Amino acid sequence: MKPILTTLLAIAGLLNDQIAPGQTRQTTKPNVVFIYADDLGYGDLGCYGNQAIATPNIDQLARGGMRFTDFYSASPVCSPSRAALLTGRYPIRQGVNGVFFPDSYTGLDSAEVTLAETLRGAGYRTGMVGKWQLGHLEAYRPVRHGFDSYFGIPYSNDMTSVVYLRNDHVEEYKVDQRYITQRYTQEALRFIDQNQKRPFFLYVAHNMPHIPIYASPEFVGKSGQGLYGDVIQELDWSVGEIMKKLRERGLEENTLVIFSSDNGPWLVMGEDAGSAGPLREGKQTTFEGGMRVPAIACWKGKIPAGKVNSDLALMMDWFPTLTKLGGGRVPTDRPLDGEDLWPVLTGTGKRKAEQLAYYFNGKLEAFRLGDWKLKLPYGGNAGTPGMKALAAHPLLLFNLRQDLGEQNNLAEQNPAKVQELQTAMTAFGQSLGKVPPGKIQRSEADKSLSKARKP
Ligand code: MG
Repeated sequence: MKPILTTLLAIAGLLNDQIAPGQTRQTTKPNVVFIYADDLGYGDLGCYGNQAIATPNIDQLARGGMRFTDFYSASPVCSPSRAALLTGRYPIRQGVNGVFFPDSYTGLDSAEVTLAETLRGAGYRTGMVGKWQLGHLEAYRPVRHGFDSYFGIPYSNDMTSVVYLRNDHVEEYKVDQRYITQRYTQEALRFIDQNQKRPFFLYVAHNMPHIPIYASPEFVGKSGQGLYGDVIQELDWSVGEIMKKLRERGLEENTLVIFSSDNGPWLVMGEDAGSAGPLREGKQTTFEGGMRVPAIACWKGKIPAGKVNSDLALMMDWFPTLTKLGGGRVPTDRPLDGEDLWPVLTGTGKRKAEQLAYYFNGKLEAFRLGDWKLKLPYGGNAGTPGMKALAAHPLLLFNLRQDLGEQNNLAEQNPAKVQELQTAMTAFGQSLGKVPPGKIQRSEADKSLSKARKP
């Protein structure tokens, strides 16, 4: 190839990298702030119908952008949800079928390409504050998965080894959990200050409201809705602080802010758990309450304000959406399960696929196609201190548009729809091909040591 042609093609490639395909939506790369709550229920926020807990800042985010009603995490538990968010791929493709523990010796595979890596590759400064839960040994840490900086508790706050890790080093061995949300907020604000002059991706993954729940003294007793309400109101305060900082720095019109939750409420924790609102069940189940989560996207001047979107959308969509938005390269050497949501966010198009495979512990338990959901027969479980008892059920078919609470089983009266969903579900399973073995590996000694702990 002639050198001049090669040069021209290289320039064209460079331009393509800088401007998302087919779009001229910005001249400078937008910042991205992704705020992730832990075990926050679908019914915990004012903008999702909660009338008791005041969440004015998150509600304002919804009023200023798009709120999704049918938005799904890829899993009803923490680690697989996070693996899917960061890679745009079903956790089953990665072997992340359960939750990593502080005695796990595995984590998110280094061969996976994360959102932090694609955005860093596009010139972004990438920072993470908060709960990681994708492995703590050196090869699996956030700073080995594309984040320039990390501060947070690497695991759930109910597990042993609750420490503050900064990059590769433990900064504090004793964490006063009352101040986790404040501490994360301070770190997030500092990251914005330090990186205000360049494109940045900030991932704020709160430990709250996962149990044990804590609020700082300033918030305890303030909600009038018990400690859980106080915790949510402190999270709402944190969102408000981040938005205030973006405004003060003149970044509001060049920053996409997303707020969501990794999975539904941990209902067996009683008063310390949130509410799934109108949805059935919560965390650790493939009923809607386990995987349908709040999701809000706000970008002043770019995403039309006050929109409510009721089409299906997935946590895995953020990977291609944000990678393209930042001018990064979406990997083409592996299957991706997310779609670019930009047309949805701007009201210029719809998401193509209307299906979701609901996995729990590596098992395909349910499938949504359009408005319909098929749930395979379940043998029931008697419950444990960490897991709510769940009655056995036969094959279930629901029309989610008409029956949000999954109460009316239509399987017997609509065998054609059952067949249609079964066929789609089987085709999906076959399309996966060979999946890797599960990566949640712990030694037998580790398991026996941790038996006394809460899961
Ligand atoms: Mg969680």
